[in-house]
Amino acid sequence: MKFGCHLSIKQGYLGAAKQAVAINAAAFQYFPKNPRSLGIKAFNREDAAMCNQYCRHKGIISVIHSPYPGTLIPHDNKMREKVVASLLNDLEIAEACGSIGVVVHFGKPIDRSDLLISYQLVIKMLNAILQQWEGEAKLLIENNAGVPGSMGTTLEELVQVRSLSQYPEKIGFCFDTCHAFASGLWTGENWEDIWEKGEAIGYFEELQVIHFNNSKYPTGLGKDRHASIFDAGFIKEEQFAKIVNTPQLQNIPFILETPKEECPHEREIQLLQEKWGDGE
Ligand SMILES: [Zn+2]
Repeated sequence: MKFGCHLSIKQGYLGAAKQAVAINAAAFQYFPKNPRSLGIKAFNREDAAMCNQYCRHKGIISVIHSPYPGTLIPHDNKMREKVVASLLNDLEIAEACGSIGVVVHFGKPIDRSDLLISYQLVIKMLNAILQQWEGEAKLLIENNAGVPGSMGTTLEELVQVRSLSQYPEKIGFCFDTCHAFASGLWTGENWEDIWEKGEAIGYFEELQVIHFNNSKYPTGLGKDRHASIFDAGFIKEEQFAKIVNTPQLQNIPFILETPKEECPHEREIQLLQEKWGDGE
């Protein structure tokens, strides 16, 4: 199993990779730059290349989380340009660091009475970014939290926007367990149904990352508050076990975005490995 967590790049990209190894993580996620802004970062290419080499050598998988303001539904033209430039910058950093892709949030509708405008914008954004991108790193669309029925919460929507874009081969998916639980997509009791449906529509074939988080709120409330995996949130261990024990997910990175104050990630990864690891 590839258990890991989100890590800081305070010590650089190589520093984050070394930190992953130090806490026994098989994978890690990082913000390529300040997570609150969409500025373009003139990153340190030497550091990125060393991170790439180190991760290959150690067999570590890494993935980028794009800054929060950069969703696929920017609400005005100026913001659209910024998001395109920022995500291209993130893809470049991912490529240089050897990361598999850049996780991006779907975004919230511009007009709730006409969702089509927003779906069309998502596809336009994907095209605008990916027509300028020739690297290996992919854009990885994450499922939204949000009350049941809100935009970006179903596997069908994610599969649809990918297939309607001009560059589906440059797009993959990130499944966040807390978001899925919050939106009622995954109630904790219906993993088999999700798997069956996701397989049928081609979702799981394109799944690249799992954000492995518990939830501080019950399912279906649309509340995106992450909790630690064990003895913390509303998702029970045996419910997580269904996902972890899915044979097709054995090589997919499971990234913790859980509150470190509740359980340090080093400890949480150790618990995950004791419980579900394959003893490597
Ligand atoms: Zn997430």
